[in-house]
Amino acid sequence: MKYISTRGRTAHHRFSQILLMGLAPDGGLFLPEHYPHIDEQTLYQWRDLSYPELAFQIIKLFADDIPEADLKAIINQTYTTDAFGSETITPLRRLHDGIGILGLSNGPTLAFKDMAMQFLGNTFEYVLSKENKALNIIGATSGDTGSAAEYALRGKNGIHVFMLSPNGKMSAFQRAQMYSLPDANIHNIAIDGMFDDCQDIVKTLQNDELFKEKYQLSTVNSINWGRIAAQIVYYFKGYFAATSSNEEKVSFCVPSGNFGNVCAGHIARMMGLPIHRLIVATNENDVLYEFFKSGYYKPRVAAQTRVTSSPSMDISKASNFERFIFDLVDRDATQTEALWDEIAAGNGFNLHLLLDKIREQYGFVSGKSLHSNRIDTIANVYANDNQIIDPHTADGITVARNLREAGENVVCLETALAAKFADTIAEALGSNINIPRPAVTEGIEDLPQRVQVLPNNAAAVKMYMKEVLNG
Ligand SMILES: *Cc1c(COP(=O)(O)O)cnc(C)c1O
Repeated sequence: MKYISTRGRTAHHRFSQILLMGLAPDGGLFLPEHYPHIDEQTLYQWRDLSYPELAFQIIKLFADDIPEADLKAIINQTYTTDAFGSETITPLRRLHDGIGILGLSNGPTLAFKDMAMQFLGNTFEYVLSKENKALNIIGATSGDTGSAAEYALRGKNGIHVFMLSPNGKMSAFQRAQMYSLPDANIHNIAIDGMFDDCQDIVKTLQNDELFKEKYQLSTVNSINWGRIAAQIVYYFKGYFAATSSNEEKVSFCVPSGNFGNVCAGHIARMMGLPIHRLIVATNENDVLYEFFKSGYYKPRVAAQTRVTSSPSMDISKASNFERFIFDLVDRDATQTEALWDEIAAGNGFNLHLLLDKIREQYGFVSGKSLHSNRIDTIANVYANDNQIIDPHTADGITVARNLREAGENVVCLETALAAKFADTIAEALGSNINIPRPAVTEGIEDLPQRVQVLPNNAAAVKMYMKEVLNG
């Protein structure tokens, strides 16, 4: 399989090549030249596969330049009961009102990003060792992404991770999760500043061509194609768990920020999985909701992005959205580039003429959930189902309840566990509530922590990295 860029001006590459590349050189995002089509008979054969068996069948369609035996070994090493808490890997449960919850957050950092990151970490190590290369990953995090990357890359040969976080701005649990890792290749840097400052420093280093080249800098952000490919798997798994035959349809409701998670759902649907609708749930930061309602897409700057109680969705520029728009405009790269030129110029773009196509042909709809909705839903699910759900999943449940049609089989993706967001849970359920925690995270706040505090200054980070890497 060959990969093309949504901007159309990049040579075609294979999976292993684009895995380490991030953005395409022309500024676009990589996508397969064609989506594989899964016929009825194949879908029938896949129904009873285990998670790793299914992951192998799906990912090998996209990663066809990795020998099958090697890919199988990587996948079997990734999706284990040990790492994800059960043999099912992504267990499905139903609330009393029939809405399904697909548990994607039982990995090491209690958020859905582990589903793809754990695979990516193992695949990176494999590709680097084949090519005898080394890589230094830099990133900025306000919590979830950074910890998922660190747990995926800890102890991997040929890889160092430098993760910037705002000093004193993360929860005690998030700090403990990242800073307590003992692995020598993980380097936590707490910047005296905000999350945006961390991100600016990462951009500055990335734009420093000499430094980038000399130290093989790379990132693992949500536009990485390997992450999308790994996420396609759980839409199939969730579909099989939610139905008893392939005649049935399922709608997925996805708490969204960068559009990475639901983009994988879109691709599963394009591959022929019987998905009825893809329901995009947003919080107060609602640029995607605006688009699906009106056809008008206008990203907002950081200053216009609200800090909410579902912080991992506090995004006003959905970095994976270009992949869907490219499909929507029938893969016209020139038009896609023109639309993103408008965005770069500070304008939005308006595709309201395509709203019917977006809904009818692509199945997309969207809803929005506010702080009060999230709190009510957490309280309501606790009262009726005796479960504590996290604030992001609560946004999904809120929207699913609002938009569900009679008889529609809706499955919400659980994107994090409540234990990560104790403050919001206390607001919804009272501060005496005991939030269940997976055994592996018991007592992590008491472990010794390793973190380097640095001033809000790219030169200081650069100097620190050089010291570490040159021993
Ligand atoms: C990353 C994240 C999201 C948003 O996912 P996208 O792929 O960016 O749309 C939602 N919820 C949680 C808990 C997350 O960590």
